[in-house]
Amino acid sequence: MSGVVGVFSNSNEHVSPYVYYGLYAIQHRGQISSGIAVNNNGFVDYVKELGLVNEVFNNETIDRLRGNIAIGHVRYAAHFEAKNKANAQPLVVGYKRGALGISLDGSIVNFMKVREEMEDSGAIFQTDLDTEVIAALIAKYHKNDFNQAIVDALKDVQGSYAMVAMTNDRIVAARDPHGLKPLSIGKIGSDYIVASETVAFDTIGAELVRDVEPGEIVMIDKDGLTTIQRSPEKRSMCIFELVYLARPDSIIDDKSVYISRSEAGKQLYREFPTEADIVIGAPDSGIVAAIGYAEGSGIPYTEGIIKNRYVGRTFIEPTQAIREQGVRIKLNALRENIKGKSLVLVDDSIVRGTTIKRTVAMLRDAGAREIHVRIASPPVTHSCYLGVDTPSEENLIASHMDTEQIRQEIGAESLYFISLEGLVKAAGEENGFCRGCFSGNYPVERVE
Ligand code: SF4
Repeated sequence: MSGVVGVFSNSNEHVSPYVYYGLYAIQHRGQISSGIAVNNNGFVDYVKELGLVNEVFNNETIDRLRGNIAIGHVRYAAHFEAKNKANAQPLVVGYKRGALGISLDGSIVNFMKVREEMEDSGAIFQTDLDTEVIAALIAKYHKNDFNQAIVDALKDVQGSYAMVAMTNDRIVAARDPHGLKPLSIGKIGSDYIVASETVAFDTIGAELVRDVEPGEIVMIDKDGLTTIQRSPEKRSMCIFELVYLARPDSIIDDKSVYISRSEAGKQLYREFPTEADIVIGAPDSGIVAAIGYAEGSGIPYTEGIIKNRYVGRTFIEPTQAIREQGVRIKLNALRENIKGKSLVLVDDSIVRGTTIKRTVAMLRDAGAREIHVRIASPPVTHSCYLGVDTPSEENLIASHMDTEQIRQEIGAESLYFISLEGLVKAAGEENGFCRGCFSGNYPVERVE
């Protein structure tokens, strides 16, 4: 998972602050590297480094990055990848038609195949990025018509992507034909901004215009916004965005992430009603579902776990060792609220099972009498190869244990997962979703 931002302005010669604040708002989508590239009348400058947005950029760098077109990226490194500065984005390349910058969120499943074919024809690649393959394809296909080159390049790749690209005169925003990754368009005055999540718009006071549609390519230049609609496939937005990945204050494909999580909590209660003294949520992404569960059940929602605000989200740390360190220092039970209580603990998901096990033990240490765990997504039984770094299948606890075995393993009095139908209902039945990590059925085939 990564986060992308792009800004085009007709009048403002210094749009990199917008990109900076936009990236800041979507930092949760990637914490390994951050980058911004700007185009200033054909001259491209960029800064990209390993680190968080506020570590990579300061007043001096943002002041230096002047131009009316800019793109940015925050990167998450998959568990099998090295933290390599060369893989930081935006990717900036020069080719015979000019300069091109690309930021990508997603995973091109056939990129090694395409890359090998291009290498056989003499192409040279400098990074491990699938993004570089897209750049090479655009360069290959760009004869006279840039728009056609984008269409042809994207025809050659399969997978999930939300792409923001920048040339000398425009921003290009494209979403894969299934719409697996979110990408929205906003406007501030006469300037356009595109971003992975709408919270990036709120940060700079921009209005949400609409989502980029599955399969759509949007061009933004001095004449405004034009669109090329390729044939979309069945809409299959990653449902894990609504469960865990996105910020609750974002809106994706017209759906409030907050409302979906809250509805999932209510649905969870309808499916598994429980008597208890209090409902508590596992910070952060279990909180909204817990509030929904409390609203649905009438059991009071209470603060039960306090999170150290200065620790990153454990799920997106790349190594087990770092993850375990993070878990140990991240959460603390609020003993005064827990002691002697029978409680419902709501979390968004169980992936490895290590975090929930520690949380249950911590609540038990704090004096909880009964702990009933309710999970606002179904058991994660399959690994994702479409751009979300879930662990390999053998490390997913639900791939080899049933619910009763997991209950025993984590030491709770009871454990229930929302049904897949219930989750889809909470997320908005009218929308199509990828649910591969819960069902093993993916909208895009894996390429070995
Ligand atoms: S397999 Fe799961 S995590 Fe991956 S895109 Fe589909 S729903 Fe999202």
